[in-house]
Amino acid sequence: MSLTIASPLAGWATRLADVPDPVFAEKMLGDGIAIDPVEGRLVAPGAGVVLSVHPAGHAVTLQLDAGPVLLMHIGLETVGLGGEGFASKVVDGQRVAAGDLLVEFDLDRLARTAKSLITPIIVTNGEAFAVEDPVSDRAVAAGERVMCFRALGGAVTTTEQAAPTASRTLNLPLEHGLHARPAARIAQLAASHAGTIEILAPSGRVASARSAVAMLALALPHGAAITVRGSDSNGVAAVADLLATGMGELKPVGGPAEPAPSVPVAGLPSVLKGVTAVSGTAIGPAFRPIDPVADIPEIGSGIEAERAALMVAKDSVRTELSADAAGEGDRAGIAAAHLALLDDPELAIAADATIAAGKSAGFAWRQAVGFYVDQLRGAGDARFAERIDDFNDLGRRVVLAIHGAPDQAPPPPGAILIADELYPSQLMALGEAGLAGIATARGGTTSHVAIIAAGMGLPMLVSLGDALAQVEPGTELVIEDGALRIAPDAADVAAVRARIETRQARRQAALAHADQPAVTTDGARIEIFVNLGSAADARAAVAEGAEGCGLLRTEFLFLDRGTPPDEEEQRAAYQAIADALGDRPLIVRTLDIGADKPAPYLTIAAEENPALGLRGIRLQLAWRDLLDAQLRALLRVETQAPLRLMLPMVADRAELVAAREALSKHAGDLGVATPELGIMVETPAAALTAAALAAEANFFSIGSNDLSQYALARDRTNPAVAAGLDGLHPAVLRLIDETVRGGAAHGRWTGVCGGLAADPEAVPLLIGMGVTELSVPGATVAETKALVRTLDLSKCRAVAARALTAPDAAAVRALVSSLSEQGQ
Ligand code: PEP
Ligand code: MG
Repeated sequence: MSLTIASPLAGWATRLADVPDPVFAEKMLGDGIAIDPVEGRLVAPGAGVVLSVHPAGHAVTLQLDAGPVLLMHIGLETVGLGGEGFASKVVDGQRVAAGDLLVEFDLDRLARTAKSLITPIIVTNGEAFAVEDPVSDRAVAAGERVMCFRALGGAVTTTEQAAPTASRTLNLPLEHGLHARPAARIAQLAASHAGTIEILAPSGRVASARSAVAMLALALPHGAAITVRGSDSNGVAAVADLLATGMGELKPVGGPAEPAPSVPVAGLPSVLKGVTAVSGTAIGPAFRPIDPVADIPEIGSGIEAERAALMVAKDSVRTELSADAAGEGDRAGIAAAHLALLDDPELAIAADATIAAGKSAGFAWRQAVGFYVDQLRGAGDARFAERIDDFNDLGRRVVLAIHGAPDQAPPPPGAILIADELYPSQLMALGEAGLAGIATARGGTTSHVAIIAAGMGLPMLVSLGDALAQVEPGTELVIEDGALRIAPDAADVAAVRARIETRQARRQAALAHADQPAVTTDGARIEIFVNLGSAADARAAVAEGAEGCGLLRTEFLFLDRGTPPDEEEQRAAYQAIADALGDRPLIVRTLDIGADKPAPYLTIAAEENPALGLRGIRLQLAWRDLLDAQLRALLRVETQAPLRLMLPMVADRAELVAAREALSKHAGDLGVATPELGIMVETPAAALTAAALAAEANFFSIGSNDLSQYALARDRTNPAVAAGLDGLHPAVLRLIDETVRGGAAHGRWTGVCGGLAADPEAVPLLIGMGVTELSVPGATVAETKALVRTLDLSKCRAVAARALTAPDAAAVRALVSSLSEQGQ
């Protein structure tokens, strides 16, 4: 069967043989077509993964999900332009969909400066895919079919892997680095030798010298210290000699061969902005765990052998999962879901087709899983996130069963773990490694891995974006103030270390007084409560000095399972937390799922804007069984101190009234007293109608994370905008002020349980506006208490009044700094 490849450019299609460069015309890099572009946009011709973008921006290699690897080389001899006129829009390792912009180029400028604009589009893995039916001599549009390919069946055997016996190290003297044309010549030369010949890059990555594409993917710049090595000493010498000539582009490199600095990588900024999932400052060398799914051999060792390998691996994973599924609790539910996916017929067909095209079992399985993950991601619905994790987890499990765990030394103590995405099992496996922090390209602040990191006390940044992939292992990194600093200079390193030491000393001092109350210098008592998600958290928080729980996130019981917990299971879980708190008050938030916290058993129709959709109290009123079971479970908990309930995401008085009616009814049925019922103020609507809501609610607790998201119209889960979310924006502060005043009009107290409560710059403003309770993550309780003890409430009131009329968040922060400079 023959499949099609679309054009990545709009332009005039030409036969490859007509390209005025023998490297392309003689198909040294592979077969394909060429296009003379009429627009300066190179787009992905299909879904796939970017294997490499040349630092000069003129060439992109793309692994299509359908199998072929395409090299798209914009113009001829354009590497010499050194990137001028090219703006690459993707980075190595990035997934792209058909039509995604890869490179924007200045057509007019290139027409003046380049030898030719003709752009070869080459299928470089010709051993696995044959090009058929290329179009030529006509105009084509981007996305239009320009050639077909056919998988070459039959067993494709792996190259023999002999240990290197010869090696030569040199600094690459090619002025423009190892780009397409010299790579093609090296590959041709290497192919005329029998043994293995490889190029080892300074990053530690290795490419076969027989594969021009693999060498291009190393993105070797001029001067890079490389090692040519292999089992064929003649071949190694011949390749090294050819490289040493400069291949017509000689530009001598001064000094002896030294390892090239790993950073800065061209195009990698020195600071990446992210979103804080666990606050704190960390410094240490980057450590990237090897992803067992990423580093698997592509080429199979025979179709039947690979089919058998996949079958054996699936059998072994099935046995493990069946054992887990027969157990109890969350683990059993997850295992049952994974078992269903393991034997999904679509996955099996997709993987088998890829094996039939000569790929390895692991590669085929990864690709099949990746295809479905992309489909789910493309749906853009946060509720599929759980499914994506299921698929990815299963992908990893089967690949590990085929290839075994990757051979990797443990992280050095004090390392910062960097990864595209991280799974809880990966982090738990590194629990003893003495990590300093975590930085991930994707992920959200509410992910399971973020919760585990918080429990381990590891500062964590998420949503740093694709550029994180370019950070080389071993590079010094700093996590601080929502940003990742890459290769900081010595003065910066010293300053950060000093801040970490000061912070540790401050924490020790705070812990020494953890059990004492937080009273301002002028005698105002502020309650410092803790946010909890489990009984274990509760025990730790009591030791930190928490005076009660200001927010129990009950979602922890409802996520990651096939069915919701019943009333009795809930009661037992809440009782365990109440017991751990002893005589300290407990405020329980009723279920806040939906939006960024999806549950698989809630079959909600896809929503265009889940954050504005069926979530929080709206969802519980729509699914009354969930509300009723939770209220009854809570009413049956026996506590030594008051139990209070609060509702998430209230925007309308009617929601509060309906929930109160349900609570009174169940309390009546069970013959118990009705507990106090408050609301979380998380929507501008609730803040602005606080006075009316206070007539019905017993108290307010401000969810500043959501309140900021809705006030500033920035999706807290969207890495492109979440980094700009600042709860000290005067618009958010005015909503908080309105809430406190609305509550006070009816004698109701207001607390804050979102991230602002633990922000040292926000605390003076919050208490200055009249907030009397701060509910913070466990690890910050003692320090928040210590901070409050340094504040003078009358000064806080004055600075809060000025902050309300400040023009922006930066001005607010400057005001607070001036307060601390006055000795506060
Ligand atoms: C908030 O929105 O500030 C909050 C505390 O709730 P969550 O972060 O769980 O949405
Ligand atoms: Mg919230």
